Amino acid sequence: MKEHALLSDVTRIYPGGAGRPPVHALGPVDLSLREGEFFGVVGPSGCGKSTLLEVLAGLAVPSEGVVRFEDREIHGEVPAGIGVVFQDDASFPWLSVADNVAFGLRRAGLPREEIRQRVDYALRFMGLGDFRDAYPAQLSGGMRQRVCIARTLVLRPRLILLDEPFGALDAQTRLLMGDELLRLWRETGATVLLITHALDEAAMLSDRIAVMSARPGKLIEILDTGWPRERDSRIAGEDDFGHITGHLWKLLRGESLKSLGMEAAS
Ligand code: ADP
Repeated sequence: MKEHALLSDVTRIYPGGAGRPPVHALGPVDLSLREGEFFGVVGPSGCGKSTLLEVLAGLAVPSEGVVRFEDREIHGEVPAGIGVVFQDDASFPWLSVADNVAFGLRRAGLPREEIRQRVDYALRFMGLGDFRDAYPAQLSGGMRQRVCIARTLVLRPRLILLDEPFGALDAQTRLLMGDELLRLWRETGATVLLITHALDEAAMLSDRIAVMSARPGKLIEILDTGWPRERDSRIAGEDDFGHITGHLWKLLRGESLKSLGMEAAS
């Protein structure tokens, strides 16, 4: 498979100030995303997962190293072709569902008719067709998160970066939203990078999973799940699923204890 995005020897150090020391949050990290894959990233809290996503999105500049997307260097701005979905609910409460989804296209100055068509498609795709005039406060948490995904989908990204997108949802809704995400990934052909603290989510959704160490986050292993492209949450019942989550937890347990300031007893 072709390389789609690359982090090469990337570190990110947040500068100190006002008596605070600098924070070495990430790296050095080398990572090559393959075109069209679903790539999961897990790691203990505070290990630098969001920092990794921000650097890859062009929202943060690496302190060292190079970030590339489709053979171009990324430096301090989100390139066309990359879409980001953030944690929890980041919809605009004062805009209707349709206006939330149209927001980025209007800002980009696209013709009205094209905006209408793209918004209609994204709303139907995410099962929001009947809610176009509703406001976020009238929707469930799962539906609000669908609005956020539709808002990114409408931009037709070739690389979709998601930072704990289902963190605020209950376990069953999370699994079902995972199915939606797999469908979106298959039907758009986009490359997906998903940051999550939930090992079951990573194990179910990903072709490959990177496990990060305690801060400063480095990649300690990249695991191939071997799942077929046609899959859904029912794979959570398979033996391999248990093996994958078991292996992830074995790698992560010690790192999680370190990030809590406790060392592993064995
Ligand atoms: P994660 O997403 O894995 O929880 P983050 O990438 O959010 O981790 O943060 C990694 C580390 O960098 C944490 O220790 C966090 O406190 C620190 N950090 C994040 N943002 C800043 C900032 N703007 N200034 C200083 N330190 C930061």
